[in-house]
Amino acid sequence: MRQTLIMGNWKMNGSRAESQALAQAIVDGLEPGDQGIAVCVPFVYLSDVRSIVESTPVALGAQNVADQEKGAYTGEVSAAMLKDSGCSYALVGHSERRSYYGDSDQSVAARFCQAQKEGVTPVLCIGETLEEREQGQTFSVCDRQMEAVIEAAGIEALANSVIAYEPVWAIGTGKTATDEQAQEVHKYIRDRLAEKNQEVAENLQILYGGSMKPENAKGLLAQPDIDGGLIGGASLKAESFLGIYRSAS
Ligand code: PEP
Repeated sequence: MRQTLIMGNWKMNGSRAESQALAQAIVDGLEPGDQGIAVCVPFVYLSDVRSIVESTPVALGAQNVADQEKGAYTGEVSAAMLKDSGCSYALVGHSERRSYYGDSDQSVAARFCQAQKEGVTPVLCIGETLEEREQGQTFSVCDRQMEAVIEAAGIEALANSVIAYEPVWAIGTGKTATDEQAQEVHKYIRDRLAEKNQEVAENLQILYGGSMKPENAKGLLAQPDIDGGLIGGASLKAESFLGIYRSAS
């Protein structure tokens, strides 16, 4: 049985005070027994948010991680630093990183490996652009993005990871994939991985991301191969983030 995971991606939003207030409001909205909830916070606010969420069910995540272990890589943040800052998760390969900052499949794979080496669970983001979908390339794009990681880390490494299927055309656009569109790709991903390792595929959490909100979360999260959500815009308000979280349970 896969546990549901609802993860916020705050992106480059908020001040220190706003981040602290948001984290506190999420913690305050939790009920006994809640689990499977996480927030990916800007690097500079990780320690502020850590002091609010530690000893609560809210796990801490980063939005990226360096593809190198340490050394002369100005501006980068290593997996060891994330671990040291209390991170359980790190996003790798978010479409905004791939498209604005040139994160290639190979560099995403290297980031994935660095995170895992330090015991930080990588959340591998994959998904097609609108153009790729219209050209019938949805599955091949997902294959290519997953294959780069499997080649670098091995299929067994996916056992300690999370995949987020995020159709690029649905991120921050207000256009959500329908329940059926999302389920179709999630099932494809799981089936594809099952050809390589059945157990890994069955236990892997595959999150959906792309304009998820309280109004559409229930249908998406009810799909058999959707194990949670990676949420951008709607994670910036505790009410909507917790609203999505509650729709999962
Ligand atoms: C995201 O950035 O991962 C995301 C899914 O954003 P949004 O929910 O705003 O579409």
